[in-house]
Formats: sequence, C-alpha cells, structure tokens
Amino acid sequence: MKIKTQVGIIGSGPAGLLLSQLLYKHGIDSIILEKHSRAYVEGRIRAGILEQGTVDMFEEAGVADRLHREGLVHNGIGIQFNDINHRVSFNARDTGKTVTVYGQTEITKDLMDAHAQRDQEPLYEAKDVRISGIEKESPLISCQHDGQTVQVACKFIVGCDGYHGVSRESIPSSILQTFDRIYPFGWLGGHLARFPPHRGRNAACQGRGSAPGKARQR
Ligand SMILES: Cc1cc2nc3c(=O)[nH]c(=O)nc-3n(C[C@H](O)[C@H](O)[C@H](O)COP(=O)(O)OP(=O)(O)OC[C@H]3O[C@@H](n4cnc5c(N)ncnc54)[C@H](O)[C@@H]3O)c2cc1C
Repeated sequence: MKIKTQVGIIGSGPAGLLLSQLLYKHGIDSIILEKHSRAYVEGRIRAGILEQGTVDMFEEAGVADRLHREGLVHNGIGIQFNDINHRVSFNARDTGKTVTVYGQTEITKDLMDAHAQRDQEPLYEAKDVRISGIEKESPLISCQHDGQTVQVACKFIVGCDGYHGVSRESIPSSILQTFDRIYPFGWLGGHLARFPPHRGRNAACQGRGSAPGKARQR
C-alpha cells in the first residue's frame, strides 16, 4: 500500500498526536505510524502535571475543553525547609501562570478522539518502521501493517518516537545535530495512592535532595 502525505510522524505519544492536530488546524496533511496498539498507548500512565505552556498549546489545538472541565488547577507550591513550609504563589496576578493536574492518559484520549472525529486515526501496530531517502526531496517511511508493506511518501518526517525510537538512529551522523540540557540531578517517582499529598504541590528539601508530593487526578 502506498500513501502520500505532507508530514509523516513516527510515534503517537503526546508529541506526535499534538503535532498532527496542530498541523491539521493549519491545513497540513499528516499521518502517524505507531508501533503499539491504541489500547496500549491509551493506558500508558505517565505525566499528571501540565505546565501553562502545555495547556496553551492544547487550547491552540482545540482540544482543551475536557481539560478545563476536569483538570485541577494549582495556584502555588509549598516548599519546606527545616520543618517550615514556604508557600510560593503562582497566582495569575503574580506570574500569569498556573499548573494543571490532568493525566497524560486523558490527554492521549482527547487527542485520539480528535483524530477519530476527522477520520485520521494513526496507523497503530506499525511494525518494523524504517526511514529512507532522508537526504532526498521526498523521503519515505515504510512499515509492516496488517500483513502488508506500507510505504509513506512525505515532504517531511518528524520523529516523535523518543530517545530509543527508530528516527534518531536513521539520521546520518554527518548531519545529526543534538541539543541537550543536562541537569546535575536525577529523580525517582513513586505513586502513593493512599496518602494524598497536602493541597497543591509540596516539596521538602534538605542537604541531600528534595522529596516532592504531587497530586494526581482520580
Ligand atoms: C513516571 C513519569 C511521570 C511523568 N510526569 C510528568 C509530568 O507530571 N508532567 C510532564 O509534563 N511530563 C511528565 N513526564 C514526561 C512525559 O510523560 C513525557 O515527556 C511524554 O510522554 C513525552 O511524549 P512523547 O510523545 O515525546 O514521547 P512518548 O510518550 O515516549 O511517545 C513515543 C511514542 O513513539 C512510539 N515509538 C517508539 N519507537 C517507535 C518505532 N520504532 N516505531 C513506531 N513508533 C515508535 C512509542 O510506542 C510511543 O507511543 C513523566 C514521565 C514519566 C515516565
């Protein structure tokens, strides 16, 4: 099967789905190829806190209605040093920005629904995705889907398939440029369903690091 589109997107995480929705809003055709099933992607638990820039982009993409109805807006954070809690306000009059608690699974559903409404579902369970002709005018993505070979000819290919995806390794090292910001610390997350944190977000700090408590939606 041969498909022609303007932008071929690899990966249907939030980046790929949102990009495709924004392109659609600007009248640009795209198709997403995703190696997992829709159910798998939809059920993958990850982000829960959306910063203002993310919420703004969802508005621009026309998929923020449920987010505004069901998301929990936080107007500040408490940071605790030596048992004393300091409240840092995000009130609009201070910063113009807030954070919203709204699960990545819900974001994914909203974006998938928007794709389904315009009859442009990603190609789920696309196996053995490969990129070729990357230096040419019309590069190609190929994959195996439903027992047949699919070839997607596009003007642009966007790799939204994460660090370990196929896109990064397909770019010849002679032209690959990377932009990183490496922070001198890491983090480890755990979910404590039975101990809801104090109102809003809180972090306790001491000499060896910090322990944040973040709310999640039910
Ligand atoms: C535990 C946890 C908590 C987090 N909390 C927050 C938070 O509170 N706030 C926040 O903003 N962010 C948070 N994040 C980060 C957030 O989840 C990621 O930034 C986000 O998922 C990145 O989206 P993405 O679309 O770029 O990549 P991904 O979500 O990784 O999507 C990549 C997609 O590409 C597909 N793919 C990979 N390889 C191929 C291939 N070869 N062919 C086809 N498809 C392929 C994958 O199946 C996947 O669907 C958290 C992450 C984790 C792990």
